[in-house]
Amino acid sequence: FADDAMYEAKKSGKNNYYFYYELENRDMYQYMLTLKEGIFAAITLDQLYVEYQPIMHTCGKKIARVEALVRWNHPQYGIISPVQFIPLAEEVGAIRLLGEWILRKAVTDIGAWNAANENSLAVAVNVSNFQMADKENLLHTIDHVLAESQFPPELLQIEITESDTAVKDKDIAEFIGELKRRNISVALDDFGVGSSSLFQLTTLDIDVVKIDRSFLQEVPGNMNDTILLSGILQILHNLGIQVVTEGIENKDQLEFISTQNIAYLQGYYFSKPVPLELLLEVRDELGGQLPVQGNATP
Ligand code: C2E
Ligand code: MG
Ligand code: MG
Ligand code: MG
Repeated sequence: FADDAMYEAKKSGKNNYYFYYELENRDMYQYMLTLKEGIFAAITLDQLYVEYQPIMHTCGKKIARVEALVRWNHPQYGIISPVQFIPLAEEVGAIRLLGEWILRKAVTDIGAWNAANENSLAVAVNVSNFQMADKENLLHTIDHVLAESQFPPELLQIEITESDTAVKDKDIAEFIGELKRRNISVALDDFGVGSSSLFQLTTLDIDVVKIDRSFLQEVPGNMNDTILLSGILQILHNLGIQVVTEGIENKDQLEFISTQNIAYLQGYYFSKPVPLELLLEVRDELGGQLPVQGNATP
């Protein structure tokens, strides 16, 4: 696993995720094997579940939308982070099925929530590059799931990440074009880490950029990080791209952020990802009305 996965696992220890990083090599091998073997069955055996994390409007304490985040409640290991099993699902060819399950679950959940609460909350769903690599199939799945659930496309946002291996730039651009044609909005996730580049922002028709939380971790305490972040935010603003900053954990970050051009905020400071059943409570705790129809997506 990458360092990021290790970091993720340590952080998420707080969430009672399985502490795989303490495993010996031999046990680690067994652990990963078990996960790979179990991933297809996990879908049918109801071991997966989705939590929702609010993404806030910068102005006012309003939820703009929620991000759907998948977890695996494993019979042997307990709760497993997506950082661990998504790559394994990609490796064994389960990601297409998994991705479809997550999308269906997310729009069904939020669709029902909206019906019950007379609202039009939007939902952002992550897609893997392995899904995007077969964009015809992914688009077909999206159309199919939206049609069967009657979920309004304008309340769906697809989060993509860039990678220099799995998908060609041309295919990403075409995929984004197809989403936009359907009134589905597009967010570029984890911006600033991996292979995302400023250049791509000028060529891809992206609505929202999500700044990776590693940029925020030492802001505003670390001067260089703060300069870097401010500069990036300025560029994005000038390009007319909306920004979500991920990983707001404290008031200092929030105070700095409020001096910048940022549309949306996401982080534990507001709320951790929660089960659907808690969303109403969280909404009320965050103290605002939800946006009315048409305002929910940028
Ligand atoms: P991501 O899409 O960048 O999602 C944001 C991650 O940051 C989530 O971790 C969220 O719980 C975490 N986060 C949010 N606010 C804070 C904060 O203030 N502090 C800290 N330390 N973390 C925060 P999570 O749920 O563990 O997901 C990790 C990654 O796994 C996601 O990163 C995404 O890349 C992937 N993932 C999750 N669900 C799915 C999915 O349904 N499909 C696919 N393809 N990937 C998924
Ligand atoms: Mg995401
Ligand atoms: Mg992200
Ligand atoms: Mg991330």
